[in-house]
Amino acid sequence: MKNTKELISLIKSPSKEEIKMITRAFDYSQKAHARQLRYSGEPYFNHSYETARNLALLGMSAIVVAAGLLHDVIEDASANEEEIRKEFGEEILFLINGVTKLGKIRFKGLKRHAESLRKLFIASSQDIRVIIIKLADRIHNMETLQYVPKEKQLRIATETLEIFAPLAYRLGMGLLNRRLEDLSFPYVYPKEYETIKSIIKERNSEDVNSLKKVSRTIIKKLAKEGITNIETSYRKKGLYSLYRKLERKNWDVNKIYDILALRIIVPTVNDCYKALGIIHSFRRPMPGRIKDYIAFPKPNGYQSLHTTIFTRFGNVIEIQLRTAEMHEKAEYGIASHLLYKSHKVNKKTDHSYNMWIKKLLPNIHKLEKKEITTPDVPTWIKKIVDNQNSVHAKEFVDELKKDFFEHRIFIFTPKGDVIDLPIDSNPIDFAFAIHSDIGNHMSGAKVQGKLVSLDTKLKNGDIVEIITTKKITPTGKWLNIAKTADAKRHIKSCLRKQEEEDKPH
Ligand code: MN
Repeated sequence: MKNTKELISLIKSPSKEEIKMITRAFDYSQKAHARQLRYSGEPYFNHSYETARNLALLGMSAIVVAAGLLHDVIEDASANEEEIRKEFGEEILFLINGVTKLGKIRFKGLKRHAESLRKLFIASSQDIRVIIIKLADRIHNMETLQYVPKEKQLRIATETLEIFAPLAYRLGMGLLNRRLEDLSFPYVYPKEYETIKSIIKERNSEDVNSLKKVSRTIIKKLAKEGITNIETSYRKKGLYSLYRKLERKNWDVNKIYDILALRIIVPTVNDCYKALGIIHSFRRPMPGRIKDYIAFPKPNGYQSLHTTIFTRFGNVIEIQLRTAEMHEKAEYGIASHLLYKSHKVNKKTDHSYNMWIKKLLPNIHKLEKKEITTPDVPTWIKKIVDNQNSVHAKEFVDELKKDFFEHRIFIFTPKGDVIDLPIDSNPIDFAFAIHSDIGNHMSGAKVQGKLVSLDTKLKNGDIVEIITTKKITPTGKWLNIAKTADAKRHIKSCLRKQEEEDKPH
């Protein structure tokens, strides 16, 4: 039988009030789902519990864990909104509503599906924690997908692979991204999954052994130079991510150097660079594979130094150097930002003071919520919401996949800022991604310092400079060239304005 003990133990220093809230949410949800079963035959409440547990493991606060316990009471147990508001407050109700699908009667099939996704993004653009609850929910649904009727499995796994796993990636949540990908992989690509599994089997044992030896040598060398207090671990590449990479490398396993990587966590940023120097001074690095994601973080915030070295055993090994903070951000992404933020808030305001004032003024929930979360909603999520005007259901989902979650390329500004775009984007897309003013007045573009035409397909790592001229405005031709919905939308609105100005008065 589930109980609240484990959940509460996972929350960092919960207050008495928070413990009470979790207990109430636990009891309420258990009652609401009382006679419901999952496809597996388990009580439905187990799913609510596991979702809440996932949220606690991600370091989410008590209020989010409580929302996790309650996330399906409206959708699946037809609980009353008014009652939830009274019992648990506006904030929890908002979080639950955000992840609740739209009514079956108003929308059907794909339409319902797309509109629910749209609703999820709108709620998330106001409070990013909505998406984190959805991801925690999806993890458990994927873990129990084997019990779901066959005809539904493929649809759910495909949606996870195309939307939710990339979403976790873009939010910097490496751990959730890998988990969601590897849980969906066997359902969406069963044959390929088996192939990858057998490839991994062959490679693993020999690699792990040499990795261990290399790791010991490195620790010794680093200690000699004064870098101690190191943590090392091995990171196995996710099976799905390996599959995608093999596809890009024409299935040549020998061209993949990071099936297994050695992760070294050192105390400071300085130590990362120092350690890189030490490692390179006794093991030759492979050219072109030294990557400084500390000075140039990936657009999702990922930071580390990567290098690939030749070992004494004739193979190569990827090494990733980072600090403990970088590691936490790489695994938990936006969830770890929320964590740091809310700690800060707690420091400033006395906790007990906070609690009684909350009781007096239920509206303060809203204020505090804004303080903590609004700055954390990434602009690209807001763009999804902006883009949705008058777009049909199917287009919305296709656009979402294409613009936000499909394979991305990273493009640099001359100052070294990085912008991520869908694959095959061109300078027009890049210009509008920086700012609509730059897009609206672009007269030319340089890639690696050379002038190029506006329809040039950009490649990963290109440095692109946009030249602007005040007099220039978008033309109809740009509309055909632009790939992203964001650029198209800006161009269209500019063209419309011009038309209106040209009309005789
Ligand atoms: Mn659920």
